[in-house]
Amino acid sequence: MSNTHYQVVIVGGGTAGIMTAAQLKRKKPDLTIGLIDPSSDHWYQPAWTLVGAGTFNMGDTRRKQADQIPAGVDWIQDHAETFQPDSNQVTLRSGKMLTYEHLVVCPGIKLDIDALPGLREALETDSVCSNYIDPEKTWRIIKNFKGGNAVFTQPSTPIKCGGAPQKIAYLADEAFRKQGVREKTNLVFATPGSVIFGVKDFANTLMQVIHKKGMILKTFYNPVKIDPVKKQIHFKWSKPGENACVITEDQGLKEYVEGESTIIMPYDMLHLAPPQSAPDFVKQSPLAYQEGPSKGWLEVDINTLQHKRYANIFGLGDAAALPTAKTGAAIRKQAPVVVANILHRIRTGALATERYEGYSSCPLVTGYGKMVLAEFKYDNVRDSDPLLSRFFDTSKELWSMWVLKKYGLPWLYWNRMMKGRM
Ligand SMILES: Cc1cc2nc3c(=O)[nH]c(=O)nc-3n(C[C@H](O)[C@H](O)[C@H](O)COP(=O)(O)OP(=O)(O)OC[C@H]3O[C@@H](n4cnc5c(N)ncnc54)[C@H](O)[C@@H]3O)c2cc1C
Repeated sequence: MSNTHYQVVIVGGGTAGIMTAAQLKRKKPDLTIGLIDPSSDHWYQPAWTLVGAGTFNMGDTRRKQADQIPAGVDWIQDHAETFQPDSNQVTLRSGKMLTYEHLVVCPGIKLDIDALPGLREALETDSVCSNYIDPEKTWRIIKNFKGGNAVFTQPSTPIKCGGAPQKIAYLADEAFRKQGVREKTNLVFATPGSVIFGVKDFANTLMQVIHKKGMILKTFYNPVKIDPVKKQIHFKWSKPGENACVITEDQGLKEYVEGESTIIMPYDMLHLAPPQSAPDFVKQSPLAYQEGPSKGWLEVDINTLQHKRYANIFGLGDAAALPTAKTGAAIRKQAPVVVANILHRIRTGALATERYEGYSSCPLVTGYGKMVLAEFKYDNVRDSDPLLSRFFDTSKELWSMWVLKKYGLPWLYWNRMMKGRM
């Protein structure tokens, strides 16, 4: 390690960390930046949905981290372990310490496998998979599926890319049709939520997709346990104010109710997003909310991204307590705000005027060659890109958006966003 003091220390070199470092260096080349990240690889996770559907090569989602670190930035290949914000220090797993003038915290999200009893064992079997963990396995299971209950679900915790659990269900529907097993399949999407998507325009289109495909949508289904031996998933009926549930239409699924509010559904294949949380070292740090609904996530102002108690600390990306969807697209709008604020503080001591309004977007792939681009901001208000919306109604299924997802966005990610150029 060359230095122990930097003007800016960044914790996490994923989408948020590299984008922030690259933009800072581009705007102020003489800035000293230390970036802490233990991983030798950098992943383009948005393409994992396509890998899980057999239409993207997993190897193409990985690049060497060494090649992503912007020139002039020191990469400290270690884990950040604890924060000492009162003395502007970060302690690393190796025991070394770094000091900073500004700190940017963006170590992503933790996949909390053990928060769902039975999940760890179930993932060892050949019928349970997750694009969040091993998208190549998802494709193996979809490709070899012979019919029965194909169950897709998601947890009630915050997750990255909230649309990913349903995108793979739409793609599986089409794959099953091509394989000739769709007629023998009950394709279920079960969600703890009350609707398929929080923004009405997109929810309308997605409900049409679900009807057209003959999928079974189950709302208020919160996964609480998996029994990999019996091949059953247990859901807790989560409708607010109601703790008793009744299955009105079985639809051939052979699900049944146990006790007051547990629904047990047999599966022949199961895809799920695992429960997720802030990384442990963030949860246990003084930088996290200590109480309340955001407990454990980074306590930052939702518009300036400045820490609420430590003025020289900023947080962004999946680890930040921001009431919007956790996506790379959101980070594309967050990073410039963090960069502007740090540079303005260095110059004047005050924050810049840039604000983050909660923009996020979810490319909802609805089939091979079809995509709805859901763009929105805080409070689930639709917020379309002015240029795109001049030419396309992105709330409809479009081939052009699929081309953007499969070819355009990966290129933009590696060649523009990671280089601090957008
Ligand atoms: C299946 C799937 C589909 C998705 N689809 C989309 C999509 O279509 N569009 C979209 O915009 N987004 C999508 N996303 C979400 C997107 O990938 C994430 O929101 C984004 O990568 C978050 O960036 P981040 O920098 O916060 O975290 P990450 O990119 O996950 O990076 C976190 C980094 O922190 C490092 N780190 C962890 N612990 C420490 C530590 N102790 N010290 C230092 N460093 C540490 C890690 O090594 C990692 O490099 C998808 C994600 C998945 C899994």
